[in-house]
Amino acid sequence: MQEHFSLKPYNTFGVEAKSRYFTEVYDLEALKDAISFSKSRHLNMLFLGGGSNILLTQDFDGLAIKLNLKGISEEILNENEILVTAKAGENWHELVLHCLGKNYGGLENLSLIPGNVGTSPMQNIGAYGTEIKDIFVECKVLNLETLDIETFDLEKCRFGYRDSIFKQEGKRKYIILEVTFRLTRKDHLIKTEYGAIKNELEQLGIQHPTIQDISKAVINIRKSKLPDPKIIGNAGSFFKNPTIPLIQFERLQQKFENIQGYPNGNSVKVPAGWLIEQCGWKGKQIGNAASHQLQALVIVNATGNATGKEIFDFSAMIIDSVKEKFGIELEREVNVV
Ligand SMILES: Cc1cc2nc3c(=O)[nH]c(=O)nc-3n(C[C@H](O)[C@H](O)[C@H](O)COP(=O)(O)OP(=O)(O)OC[C@H]3O[C@@H](n4cnc5c(N)ncnc54)[C@H](O)[C@@H]3O)c2cc1C
Repeated sequence: MQEHFSLKPYNTFGVEAKSRYFTEVYDLEALKDAISFSKSRHLNMLFLGGGSNILLTQDFDGLAIKLNLKGISEEILNENEILVTAKAGENWHELVLHCLGKNYGGLENLSLIPGNVGTSPMQNIGAYGTEIKDIFVECKVLNLETLDIETFDLEKCRFGYRDSIFKQEGKRKYIILEVTFRLTRKDHLIKTEYGAIKNELEQLGIQHPTIQDISKAVINIRKSKLPDPKIIGNAGSFFKNPTIPLIQFERLQQKFENIQGYPNGNSVKVPAGWLIEQCGWKGKQIGNAASHQLQALVIVNATGNATGKEIFDFSAMIIDSVKEKFGIELEREVNVV
C-alpha cells in the first residue's frame, strides 16, 4: 500500500494525478483485502486496468487498485470451437497474439487495442467490423457489496455500441475478474468487409487472408492512423459516434449536403470525427491539449504537460461547438474521474 502515489504512469493520457492510496493486486484474496481496507476507512475506490480509457481530472482521494490478475486457460468445445478464458490483468493485445499463435480465430480484427482483458466488456470494445460481444461467452465478476462472485452471460451484459451494463446500472458495483471467449479452431470467419482492411490486404499482396494476415493488416492500419500513447498521450476516440433520429439526419442533410451517416432502422450513426472536423477542431491546440491532426476524434496531451482538467475543458469546448452547429450532443467515450 503506497500513499500520495502518482498515477501519471498508469494513464495513457500521461496526466499527473495523485492517489491518496495505491496498491497493485495479483490475486483475488489481495483484491478482497484491498476492498476491505477501503471499506473500513470509507474510501472511494478506483480500479485500473491499462489506464487507456480514463481521464483523471483531479487527485483521487481514495484507494486506486491496479488489477494485475493473470492467467489464460482453455477448454475445447468441439472439433471447431474452443473456449478461452483470460484473467482481468492480461494485456488485451497479448491475448490476441497468444490466440493467433495457436491459430484460434475471432479476435484478430481487435488487434492492437490498448488496455486489459478485464476492461474489454466495459465498453464492448470494437474495431474493424468486430465487437467483443461477437465472441463473448461470459465474464466472472466480484460483487463489490457482497464480495460474491457472479457470472454475467451475453444477455446479462446488455452490450451496445461502446456500452454495457458495467457502464450503466452496474457502474462501480462489479469488478470484472475474467472473461471467456468462444473462438474457432478452423473454418475461421474471415472479416474483411471493413474497407480499409481490403485495401491493406491488397497492398500486402494477399488474396486469401488467414486470421494472422487480418491481424497484420489491422495493426498496419492502426499504426498509420492512431497516435501511439507512448509517444503522445491520448485515450483513443474521446467521443462516441452519436446516433440521431433519421428525421433529424434528413433535416441536417438539407443544410449540410456532404454530412456522413450510417442508417440503422429509424436512426443514423454520424461519425463524431467528421462533426468535430467541420467545426474546425482538427489539429487545433489550446494550451497543452489538442485534437489530433490526423484524427479529430482523438484528443491528445500535445505537450506532455496537460492537466486532466485542461483536456476535459477542451472536450467541453468541442461538445459546445458541435451542439451549436449541428444540434447534436456528443457523449464522451472516455471515463472521466
Ligand atoms: C490509441 C488508442 C486506441 C484505442 N482504440 C480503441 C478501439 O479501437 N476500440 C475500442 O473499443 N477502444 C479503443 N480504445 C480505448 C481503450 O483501449 C479501451 O476502452 C480499453 O478496453 C480500455 O482498457 P483499460 O484496461 O486500459 O481500461 P482503464 O482505462 O484502465 O479503465 C477504464 C474504466 O474501466 C474501469 N475498470 C478497469 N478495469 C476494470 C475491471 N476489471 N472491472 C471493472 N471496471 C474496471 C476503470 O475504473 C475505468 O472506469 C483505444 C485507446 C487508445 C489509447
